[in-house]
Amino acid sequence: MAIDKNELEPRFKFEVAELPGGEHIKKCFACGSCTAVCPISNIAEEYDPRKIIHMIILGLKDRVLSSEAIWYCSHCGTCEFSCPQGVRFDGIIDALRKIAVRDKYVAADAYETWGTAPCKAACPAHISIQGFVGMIAEGRYKEGLKLIKENMPFPGICGRICHHPCEDKCNRSKVDKPVAIEYLKRFLADQNLMEEIRYVPEIEEKRDEKIAVIGAGPAGLSAAYFLSIKGYTVTVFEKLPVAGGMMAACIPAYRLSRDTLREEIKTIVDMGVEIKTNVTFGKDISIESLKNEGYKAFFIAVGLHVSRGLNVEGENIKGIIHGIDFLKDVSFKGNVAIGEKTIVIGGGNVAVDVALTALRSGAKEVQTVCLEARDEMPAWEYEIKDALDEGIIIKNSWGPGRFIEENGQLKAVEFKRCTTVFDSEGRFNPQYDESELMTLEADTILIAIGQACDMTFAGGVPDLDVSPRGPVVTDPFTLETNIPGLFVGGDASYGPKSVVEAVASGKEAAISIDRYLKGEDIKADRPKDWKGIELEPQNVERADRQQMPRLSLAERKGRFEEIDLGFNERQAKIEACRCLRICGIQGAKNKI
Ligand SMILES: Cc1cc2nc3c(=O)[nH]c(=O)nc-3n(C[C@H](O)[C@H](O)[C@H](O)COP(=O)(O)OP(=O)(O)OC[C@H]3O[C@@H](n4cnc5c(N)ncnc54)[C@H](O)[C@@H]3O)c2cc1C
Repeated sequence: MAIDKNELEPRFKFEVAELPGGEHIKKCFACGSCTAVCPISNIAEEYDPRKIIHMIILGLKDRVLSSEAIWYCSHCGTCEFSCPQGVRFDGIIDALRKIAVRDKYVAADAYETWGTAPCKAACPAHISIQGFVGMIAEGRYKEGLKLIKENMPFPGICGRICHHPCEDKCNRSKVDKPVAIEYLKRFLADQNLMEEIRYVPEIEEKRDEKIAVIGAGPAGLSAAYFLSIKGYTVTVFEKLPVAGGMMAACIPAYRLSRDTLREEIKTIVDMGVEIKTNVTFGKDISIESLKNEGYKAFFIAVGLHVSRGLNVEGENIKGIIHGIDFLKDVSFKGNVAIGEKTIVIGGGNVAVDVALTALRSGAKEVQTVCLEARDEMPAWEYEIKDALDEGIIIKNSWGPGRFIEENGQLKAVEFKRCTTVFDSEGRFNPQYDESELMTLEADTILIAIGQACDMTFAGGVPDLDVSPRGPVVTDPFTLETNIPGLFVGGDASYGPKSVVEAVASGKEAAISIDRYLKGEDIKADRPKDWKGIELEPQNVERADRQQMPRLSLAERKGRFEEIDLGFNERQAKIEACRCLRICGIQGAKNKI
């Protein structure tokens, strides 16, 4: 007698319907792949995803909801990629936790105090780092990349130039050194670039609404990426001839290869996003013209593209150039003429890039002069080290007093001693000792002391609320402006930050726009409070962090080829195995 398929379906005694993924649970056929790959199951016996699903099916509600085990999952995402049925177990766990709190199986604040792996909590884009690192260890590269791309469209870019706040929080650093998360991300992205068919995220059901994004930097492109996954038709309008924002215009190619940049932007185009370059919002187009073309929501992410001036005598003498204009010229026009004796004014990351680019462009001597003492310099420590290694001379605690010219040509700069940069309340308020002076000869000066927003874009939205302190008044979490359907994010909304923070901003914009277009509550559950779990790892053997292979100092001279060469497969696997893989387990500290 033929068996009726329905007879095989298990009887569900627990409220499966109230779990997101309840339908998923029905798909489970108890193969145990999830338990086999789950890094937490491997350490904590009582945590067994398959068993938890079975207990739900059997209706053992009390035992599931009161079990400490449901608080172990760290959302690393490994289970989904091993499940032949595509069951996302961490989503089920999240629903169980909510019910456990609601039905008072645990204290009301349990959900709020629950944390995740500190790397994931610290990453502005909240990538499932434990998950992708674990997948590298197992050689599951495509799945690892897919996991990253759930939260970040630029693993190759961020694998090269991210300031990696995730590594600062890595619990492994209490044993020896943090896991090289940034370089592992790059490894996965580079593997994908070597494939003939590259990974392109799936698009959910197509929707009718058209969305306009202004600015093709990481914030705008990320918003376009996440909105396109949601099925919207997205067009990005960009002022420059190429997409990428600061990543294409200013971040030097010796740190970020243009091939990587192009390929990751191409994936977004392959998803259906249209990028229209050489279009200036506020001049060629406006909100009104876009509305007339049928666009229903707008995200503006125009970045900070005006250099700040010094307000110092002689600033307009020939030979004094703004740092980001110089970087743009090098990026777009190739080699740019530069004097043999070059001085860079500024102590941040941009100043370091300007100095090293000047060196590669032909300057014989590059000195960087800044107000800050060595330990106050805003540039990242690893960037300062590279600059010193390549021969940049750094002079600390000096501020420019005047520029000196001879026959209409720059001759020298007079600096005065800076005694303090910040006042007692931490505000920028430099003080000088005018009796201590230093004169340095120079034929080119590159000023890199910060950028502001080019406000011409505001001409495209006449009623936009513009604040005296920041360019635009926005809700910091939802990015809403005073104009319904118009959102503003990225550096233009919060000041100079980083690529990964711009990605996070674009992602929040996509959430807001999706909810706005669906008539949902934009503010619900925002901001999410991410708590990283601190551990005191015990009985963990020391293991050296893998070193990034790099071009030698001699090989870097006069060249814009990438300095970092990337981990090979062996290095990536060894490094991935350094991950403790247990940081998400709140209740299992004593098992480590
Ligand atoms: C030299 C330099 C080095 C850096 N190095 C790093 C690093 O190593 N790591 C890191 O994480 N971050 C780094 N940053 C910071 C990082 O690049 C920025 O934080 C990030 O690019 C901001 O993204 P965004 O999308 O907000 O703006 P942007 O990247 O500035 O993009 C804005 C885009 O909007 C376009 N636009 C402007 N006005 C209009 C208009 N009216 N109409 C249409 N389009 C318009 C611009 O042309 C641009 O393409 C660096 C920045 C600089 C300048």
